[in-house]
Amino acid sequence: MRTPSGIECDYFYGDYYRGRSTEECRLLQASGERWSADLCKTCPVPGISRANACKFLRLHAKVTRPVGALFARRVEVTAYCEKNNRNVTEPQIGCGECHPIPPIFEGKK
Ligand code: SF4
Repeated sequence: MRTPSGIECDYFYGDYYRGRSTEECRLLQASGERWSADLCKTCPVPGISRANACKFLRLHAKVTRPVGALFARRVEVTAYCEKNNRNVTEPQIGCGECHPIPPIFEGKK
């Protein structure tokens, strides 16, 4: 579904039927975090979903405010591979087990 920022996101839910205006982020909701529409503008999740459609990748999101209260709230994402049971440092790329990264991209020959 399209977020208030106009980006497709699998985790956004909006119900506008018959005057309703329910909007939720199901990913932040699962973490017990409070969502507001401004978070979607800078959220990395839609980009991660576009780059990596691996069915074993599980995302976890939390809301942070970088450098104290100086900057706006942001969504910070961590990823986990349920197949290999390990954290994924680059969620856009994945853990590299199912879809190995060609050596040329790792700087190896
Ligand atoms: S905050 Fe991120 S994950 Fe949540 S609905 Fe917005 S774009 Fe999607």
